[in-house]
Amino acid sequence: MLTCREVPEELTNPHLSFPQRLQLQAHLLICTRCRALQAQFAALHEGLQRYVNKSEPLDPALAEKISRGYLGETD
Ligand SMILES: [Zn+2]
Repeated sequence: MLTCREVPEELTNPHLSFPQRLQLQAHLLICTRCRALQAQFAALHEGLQRYVNKSEPLDPALAEKISRGYLGETD
């Protein structure tokens, strides 16, 4: 079984094997904290994709702004 500490790495790894994927899904089923994290990652990914799809160079400052916004951090 995955631990919560391993989940972020698995969530951001696009090359998970099938067993790894199953383990991740099993963990997400039982762990609400990691499910929330997965939702944040998905929203962040979607936000960046939308920006990248405008075929403009990705501005690191904007990317950070987006990620801060989605992760709910405030200055
Ligand atoms: Zn967890």
